[in-house]
Amino acid sequence: MEPGIIKKLDEVVVNRIAAGEIIQKPANALKELIENSLDAKATHVQVTVKSGGLKLLQIQDNGTGIRREDLSILCERFTTSKLKKFEDLSNIGTFGFRGEALASISHVAHLSIQTKTANESCGYKALYENGQLKGPPKACAGNQGTIITVEDIFYNMPQRRQCLKSPAEEMQIICEVVSKYAVHNSNVAFTLKKYGEPPSLRTVGHSSCKENICNIYGSQIGRVLLPIELEDDIHKFKMTALVTKVDYSAKRGIMLLFINHRLVESTALKTAIDGVYSTYLPKGMHPFIYISLEMASTQLDVNVHPTKHAVHFLYEDEIIDKIKRRIELKLLGSNASRTFYKQLRLSGIPNTDSEYDDKGAKIKHNDKERIDKDRVRTDSKEQKLEKFLLKQGASGQVVKTNSTTLGNMTEESFSLLIPRSKVQLTSIKNMQENIERRLNVTLRKTLKDLVFVGVVDKAYALFQQETKLYLCNTLKFCEELFYQRLIFEFQRLAHIKFEPSLSIKNLVEIALDSEEAGWSPEDGDKLELAERASNILLEKAPMLREYFSLHISKEGQLETLPAILPQHYPCSTHLPLYILRLATEVDWDSEVECFETFCRETSQYYALISTLELSSQPQRHKWLVEHVLYPGLKRYLLPPNSLKQHLYELSSLSRLYKVFERC
Ligand code: ADP
Ligand code: MG
Repeated sequence: MEPGIIKKLDEVVVNRIAAGEIIQKPANALKELIENSLDAKATHVQVTVKSGGLKLLQIQDNGTGIRREDLSILCERFTTSKLKKFEDLSNIGTFGFRGEALASISHVAHLSIQTKTANESCGYKALYENGQLKGPPKACAGNQGTIITVEDIFYNMPQRRQCLKSPAEEMQIICEVVSKYAVHNSNVAFTLKKYGEPPSLRTVGHSSCKENICNIYGSQIGRVLLPIELEDDIHKFKMTALVTKVDYSAKRGIMLLFINHRLVESTALKTAIDGVYSTYLPKGMHPFIYISLEMASTQLDVNVHPTKHAVHFLYEDEIIDKIKRRIELKLLGSNASRTFYKQLRLSGIPNTDSEYDDKGAKIKHNDKERIDKDRVRTDSKEQKLEKFLLKQGASGQVVKTNSTTLGNMTEESFSLLIPRSKVQLTSIKNMQENIERRLNVTLRKTLKDLVFVGVVDKAYALFQQETKLYLCNTLKFCEELFYQRLIFEFQRLAHIKFEPSLSIKNLVEIALDSEEAGWSPEDGDKLELAERASNILLEKAPMLREYFSLHISKEGQLETLPAILPQHYPCSTHLPLYILRLATEVDWDSEVECFETFCRETSQYYALISTLELSSQPQRHKWLVEHVLYPGLKRYLLPPNSLKQHLYELSSLSRLYKVFERC
């Protein structure tokens, strides 16, 4: 066979092929046009679409406009006002820089541009085909800004046209692009509409990203967003993000990722974040994520793909890892209530109280259905674990009280209280932030990956992490855990109910009779003291009930205690002393001190294990440590440095190997 003859391709064909790489569907063209409007400092951007952009795609802005003298070369390839020499590439402050978008569009569609700058008295309208101006621009009236009209896209590329999705699907993709830009550019007013119809999307231009998310993606998402900020000097980047709490999940995850204000995609980052959420969300469900990353443009390569969708950046792995850890921490600190809620739900205990949403509004029937539906745990694996826990709990007889006056705390009476109103008190917020600030990240990692080995005695247990074996003071760790849960679950705690309720006066009297109370006759009459203590607590009862689910009735009866960790019940032997100490040790006068001392007293009490119960039910204690306390530490505790002194590294496999090598 004769060799083929090599010929230079016709320039129009070359350009059309090149254009087809940049503009693969109407939404690609639209993205370029929106970026041009933003580069031109527009504050209003209106997008009009006919037939999913296949017939018409029009974008009108109030930006700088285009100078009349530039109109002739505007649509030639590689004409740009944004980049002059190659070195500029390393310092791009605009979206565009290659001067390819308009040229490409003119090769695959009918393109017309109407524009007016501030300096000119009238506007001009120009038509383009295959990169060339068709006839001289015509003068026309108009406001400052630019209207770009793209019609019959791919009219000259029938194969490409055939590959497009249906107009409805293309419209959906267009809508996604506009939505994302509208959220990120909350200072710009965006409108999207189908030709001849009222707008389907409209933002006002002086709102916040969060407001725009509410507006566009729905207040159900808006209500559960957690703001996250991260600034890193080592890898030189800054992140602001809004991510949904684990209360929310959807079949179709939504991720808005902007790097240096450019809408991009990063599979690596998406996978990392999905990994964080997978521990919380049912299988196959995803969060809503908005992330804006900023880094030096020298660190970022946007010239990877013709559509500029994919980017490479320096320290990609490290940056992704840091973002992942930050999100993990945030979720850990704020979202445990849902799991708790779910676990209680799964225990089959009916919830008789009214339900309230995050803002304290009573959930309407419709809303309720939706929220309940979202809360269903669908992962069969997790279900099995829950059942296992429950079975063990029941056979291990939850808590046996050793005094009839103390009544019973049983699983049956463990009912659920949904938060009433969520006042975000600054004092509590500060306390939460303090906990986050004190966090020792290495210690957190040790806990996160721990594998429980066994109980040593009342205070200590062994666990393993990677190749290391640790001896851990369970009491000290749990004390901090209960303290943190009280603060993070402020106003959202479930409760443990006493049936029958207990008289606090009696409890204080019992406490005063005990040695630990250290009562001496100089302290005054026991009955009087009990009366006084009970009055103090009665006065604080509404606050204790509202904030910490500790309910003392008007008659002075203790009705409920906070349920801090599912399946965990504080020991009844120490209850009287706890109540006495609440009256005497809590600093009731100032808000911060009051919360602080209350939470410390309560967490100390919850961490106590009664010697009596320990000797009468050693198996129950072991079960509790392994299946309740350590899973709790593993999941929730943000360990401060100070806990390091209560954790001993006993052996490390790698060091043992070294010893063997020497032998
Ligand atoms: P690039 O954005 O890479 O420079 P484009 O082909 O997208 O290339 O645009 C070419 C030039 O046209 C831009 O550099 C800019 O000067 C001008 N331009 C395009 N769209 C607009 C607009 N909406 N407002 C003002 N100028 C625009
Ligand atoms: Mg451009």
